[in-house]
Amino acid sequence: MIYFDYNATAPVMREAREAWLNVTEKIGGNPSSMHQAGTRASIALADARENLAAHLGCHPLDLIWTSGATEANNMVTHHFARTLEATEEIWISAIEHPCVHDSAKHYFGKRAKLIPVTRDGVVDVDWITSEMADRRPGLVGVMAANNETGVIQPWREIHAICKAYGVPFFTDAVQYIGKLPLKGLGDCDYVSGAAHKFGGPRGVGFLKIPHRKAITPLLHGGKQEGGRRAGTENVAIIAAMMAALDVREKQIARSEHLLRKVWRDNFEAQFLRALPGASIIGQNQPRLWNTVSALMPDGERKLQWVIRLDKAGFAVSTGSACTTGKEEPSHVLSAMGYKSAHAVRAVRMSAGWETTEADWDALLKGVAKLYQELQPAKS
Ligand code: PLP
Repeated sequence: MIYFDYNATAPVMREAREAWLNVTEKIGGNPSSMHQAGTRASIALADARENLAAHLGCHPLDLIWTSGATEANNMVTHHFARTLEATEEIWISAIEHPCVHDSAKHYFGKRAKLIPVTRDGVVDVDWITSEMADRRPGLVGVMAANNETGVIQPWREIHAICKAYGVPFFTDAVQYIGKLPLKGLGDCDYVSGAAHKFGGPRGVGFLKIPHRKAITPLLHGGKQEGGRRAGTENVAIIAAMMAALDVREKQIARSEHLLRKVWRDNFEAQFLRALPGASIIGQNQPRLWNTVSALMPDGERKLQWVIRLDKAGFAVSTGSACTTGKEEPSHVLSAMGYKSAHAVRAVRMSAGWETTEADWDALLKGVAKLYQELQPAKS
């Protein structure tokens, strides 16, 4: 099986497994305990926090460990629901992950306004600029890169606009972290990340909050994380997450992702030649170097492609992992203006750091073969 579903989750890298084992074997205490075993755990936790703060460019105490990005994102919407005036709005992009979209709708209902996106899947900065001239939301939330299309969002620009108007800015950087340099992310007010997208374990992530600001906890019943998130910290998986991030940051610093982008671009060019009628969503926009979101040629629907490719030995997906299994247009493609008939043909192929050029070639051959098999026989 060749794995092309890294945007759903990535394999846990060796360095992360070793870090987990090392901490599990050597550091047995609870970080909140007073004895030496507890102190060792709390030192390991503080080291991890300092390390993440250095990567992001923020203060260590701005960071809260969470069970992943779903929890981190819910913390943000929950906090604003508890602290904004009853009439205030929040604005989130129309292409946010369901854990932002649905939690915003849950807490704010119609007061959660959706920022439109262009046909290419880029959040409409002009819309934000012109709306802000008249009124201010209590929060703006725009992801750093989209999980379905890989389109990189103008988060720096939007952050600058928000800053100028004194509006807090939140970015879900789950798909961005571990693929592109983190520079600038730590300046954003709220940032979420999840280890399992960059080679760390599942079930661990973080939230960065503004320096010296409070956050309304989602979980109560303990003084951990400065009283901001109750529950014993899992030091081993946090250490594993940081080991994975260290590796990714080094690879990015060596620009190793640039060659991988070339492989992806070559795949796309050949894919479009081999499958007449196919297209790449957001092709002309800056995109994550690992993602291909393709509209397959008319005929076979995406679920059939995913199943056929799976049988042929390739793991691909229909979009976000959380919506996989239902053959409906995703909210992302709908927001981009794709009609249902088109959107049901979208197949996402997402590579990772471990993906080789030979893997891309094999995928191309696999897709082209299936396409040929699906063509009606010529009489
Ligand atoms: N945000 C984005 C952009 C994602 O892609 C995902 C996972 O697919 C999440 C949030 C949820 O992250 P987690 O699985 O850590 O809860």
